[in-house]
Amino acid sequence: MLKKLFIFSLMLMLFAIPSISSARNATIKNVSYSVETTQHGVQYLHVELATNHPVEEFSANFNPNDKSQLIFRIKDARITSIPRQEKLDGEIGRKIFLQEVDNDYVQGKLYTKGELTNSSYRMYSFEKDDNHKTNGVAIDITFAGQRGANSSANSNNSNVQIGDLSGKTITIDPGHGGSDTGAIGPNGYTEKESTFAISQNLANILTSNGANVVMTRTSDVDVYAPNASAANELQARVNIGNRASSDIFVSIHCNAFTNPSANGTETFYYAGSYNGQRLASAIQKELINTNNLRNRGVSTANFYVLKHSAMPAVLVETAFISNYNEEAMLSDAQWQMQFAQAIARGINEYFNG
Ligand SMILES: [Zn+2]
Repeated sequence: MLKKLFIFSLMLMLFAIPSISSARNATIKNVSYSVETTQHGVQYLHVELATNHPVEEFSANFNPNDKSQLIFRIKDARITSIPRQEKLDGEIGRKIFLQEVDNDYVQGKLYTKGELTNSSYRMYSFEKDDNHKTNGVAIDITFAGQRGANSSANSNNSNVQIGDLSGKTITIDPGHGGSDTGAIGPNGYTEKESTFAISQNLANILTSNGANVVMTRTSDVDVYAPNASAANELQARVNIGNRASSDIFVSIHCNAFTNPSANGTETFYYAGSYNGQRLASAIQKELINTNNLRNRGVSTANFYVLKHSAMPAVLVETAFISNYNEEAMLSDAQWQMQFAQAIARGINEYFNG
């Protein structure tokens, strides 16, 4: 009996210890929203994330590079099988994405129609009581006094001034195309579509800042021939950059992995290329500042286009199309412009920084 009790209390300890130190105590079970009106007649968007246990630590900040994006974090939280992406009212909020990151956080992104300021959003927690059916966190967003301001236009603009790139020839290589879709995301969005949209935006931005831009493809085609060998296809792309005597070669791709939780941004250059490393670092830094994704850093790689380009060359893995949340970003027109603007700023820093 005594022995049994000892074993029982030992088991309790074994179970108790991990539960004390284990992360993700609060499970997000539901996302809902409503448009409410204050007593002063101002409309605001109220978003609620219902959780099973009270949420103790959370934070929210708007993205300084895209003020129509509120990034929030909930510590020790997980997500159940609810959708990771929800449309919002469409007038104040556009959509919300949720993602589990870093073992113990849930990171969310809430896209608004107007630009956020410090006073236009509020995040707070609530506990199950007479007024609340569950525990959870809420985000209220209001654009009182700035309604109708069309602020998202700026982040969709390819006429952004980034620096003087006149005299620079830049080859942009939208990864894949034609018979080669590249990787395909869980919702069916293809890498070739994303790389092309980002590359087109990038070409427009660079051109409007004076650069001479050469594209390896300007539509959804194979550059060499449909179903060609990788070497033939990639050499055809390299040839375009080399024949144009480009100053740099920038290949745009999306990453993919069998585990859908893999995520983040990574930029590659050819080992030993000092300028390749400089260009990769500048682009990577700007991308991370903009997209707030996991920074996988810059690395060397033997990729064909890096090895055979006569000029400094980089290959940008913008984000993981195999990741539900990042596929949503890669397929979003506003994000495609954000990725392009970040890469353009990195290129400008390489030439003018
Ligand atoms: Zn690719």
